[in-house]
Amino acid sequence: MPVKLDSLTKRAESVVERVNQDNPYHAFLSVLPDVGDRALQIESKMQSQTSGSLGGLIVAVKDNISVRGIPTTCGSAILENYIPPYDATVVKKIVSADGLIIGKTNMDEFAMGSSTEHSAFGTVRNPVDETRVPGGSSGGSAAAVAGGLVDVALGSDTGGSIRQPAAFCGIAGIKPTYGRVSRYGLVAFASSLDQIGVFSKNIENAAKLLTVISGVDPDDSTSSNTPVPDYSAVLGKEIGGLRVGIPKEYLSEGLNDEIHRQIEKCIDFFRKSGAEIVPVSLPHTSYAIATYYIIATAEASSNLARYDGIRYGLSKRGGDLESVYRETRAEGFGDEVTRRIVLGTYVLSAGYYDAYYDKAQRVRRLIKEDFVKVFQQVDILFTPTTPTTAFPIGGKIEDPLAMYLSDVYTVPASLAGVPAISVPLGNASDNLPIGGQIIGNYFDEETILQVGHYIERNFSLI
Ligand code: GLN
Repeated sequence: MPVKLDSLTKRAESVVERVNQDNPYHAFLSVLPDVGDRALQIESKMQSQTSGSLGGLIVAVKDNISVRGIPTTCGSAILENYIPPYDATVVKKIVSADGLIIGKTNMDEFAMGSSTEHSAFGTVRNPVDETRVPGGSSGGSAAAVAGGLVDVALGSDTGGSIRQPAAFCGIAGIKPTYGRVSRYGLVAFASSLDQIGVFSKNIENAAKLLTVISGVDPDDSTSSNTPVPDYSAVLGKEIGGLRVGIPKEYLSEGLNDEIHRQIEKCIDFFRKSGAEIVPVSLPHTSYAIATYYIIATAEASSNLARYDGIRYGLSKRGGDLESVYRETRAEGFGDEVTRRIVLGTYVLSAGYYDAYYDKAQRVRRLIKEDFVKVFQQVDILFTPTTPTTAFPIGGKIEDPLAMYLSDVYTVPASLAGVPAISVPLGNASDNLPIGGQIIGNYFDEETILQVGHYIERNFSLI
């Protein structure tokens, strides 16, 4: 197919203009310079058929992923003026594959949250219904894709921050296996859980982008040297014979009826497509939220100790050293981040370490073993992504526990480190999107993408 000259440039420039004018959905925190020039360069490569695999795609990057010379705020006042001197590995890879990065997206402060209401720079609105949250923490990236501003976007997922906003906005979002994608240049929240992943309206572009960003990186010692397949190669395959596990713990009390019905409908669709449906149990699921909020806050309290007013960003100077620390943090950190630092410090403190942190690590092991065992019987697990559809802006902000519970179905895969994708399963009667989660075995991103693609192609047809 002949490439239309300057179509990428026109498209990119018009998005930049819209973002600069009224920033639709409040999705972006900054726009990169020279978008038009870079677009033209990519287009001339496309003309001569020498462009990389992301040629023609417009990309947004969550604002906790470093782009050299561009503010990386993490949605926090404490980093409002921080400009990283280097590119994250994923950013370098996207640029060398000719993806056109146009801006950085809004997010909950330090990726702590499920709605973007914890951003220091204002809440993102869900493109499907602007009175609703887009989900979080990567809500800006999800809204930018769902609202058609960009083709694909990067997010980060520590306990659900890609999958939950993907479900709320009606798009696909994948959190790869822990270690599949380099975290170099991702600002740390909870290092043993954080993973960079992708948003896309269609699985084809998600697979393309994931292929580019995956792989071992000498700058991230937790990245894996498991070979990276071409994730696009599995798309289009049928699912006959596939063993689909349905964990009973995920279809329980608290799940919205319409979501439940849609999940059942999809299970039926799998069956009719020749898959084998296997009822399974992940018995430690009910401990996942408590375990996550101990481990994630403990790691966060340690990772965020570096924001002291001396090394990065905001600095309230004037008094003695102690007051620089205290005043910088009091002004720079929002309520949710403060709550988590306090909780994390508490669970790590002498006398409580064994009762909370150590115990949580043991339970995490049990949760992981649940997954290891179940993947001896099945190829994928299928669950809802979220217990409800997108909630109204302001709906849960006063109740942190209710907010934490919106991650109930996404957190277990994060604790285990297995890959998972949320794919759109249609809409509820109020038109809000419903997401289905496909969880795969370690480093088996291929199968979850294959099934996601199969759903995208065929589910609406039944
Ligand atoms: N909503 C969860 C939290 O607040 C998950 C966040 C994330 O995945 N970054 O911790």
